[in-house]
Amino acid sequence: MAITFKTVAESEVTISELMLPSHTNFSGKIHGGYILSLLDQIAFACASKHSGAYCVTASVDTVDFLMPIEVGELVTMKASINFAGNSSMIVGIRVEAENIQTGAVKHCNSSYFTMVAKDDNGKNVNVPGLIIRSEKELHRIHKSIKRMELRKERQAHASTVHLTTSTADISKKYKIKIDLIA
Ligand code: GDP
Repeated sequence: MAITFKTVAESEVTISELMLPSHTNFSGKIHGGYILSLLDQIAFACASKHSGAYCVTASVDTVDFLMPIEVGELVTMKASINFAGNSSMIVGIRVEAENIQTGAVKHCNSSYFTMVAKDDNGKNVNVPGLIIRSEKELHRIHKSIKRMELRKERQAHASTVHLTTSTADISKKYKIKIDLIA
């Protein structure tokens, strides 16, 4: 079957949402879990648009909450496909929060979701290839490939664990008391 291709622009998604008091944690900032749920929704929408299929989240490459988000701020999430594999896609998402009164915008996080396209029986399906139209898109492809290589390296390391810290050192270096009972 002939491979189809789509541009990045065809599946771009942007959402804006006003942060309500009902989404705050005990210190009055917006709950990180709520932001994660919005991230997952936009990743799903973007990947589904590119693939034309139902998509599931396979992994997330770091969500660092760089800046707290306040009640009343307008959060905007912009998503686009960074990379397309066989049945997987990497969706990059940039999160910004705007203080509506002052217009000040802060970058809250950027994360990269790996999404997998599925058919009705839960089997992986092929996704269209990606047409790259700008240097920025090309740069994102390179960054995605680098992240995938690093991830593979990490996984390879994890299966051949070399302990670099002795058990005795753990208690010295960290706030951990080792009191084995089994
Ligand atoms: P980058 O990945 O190095 O470009 O880092 P950024 O923090 O600028 O953006 C993170 C991700 O958000 C990008 O990889 C894009 O997938 C997505 N993104 C950033 N800017 C835009 C935009 O203007 N529109 C859309 N649809 N997505 C964007």
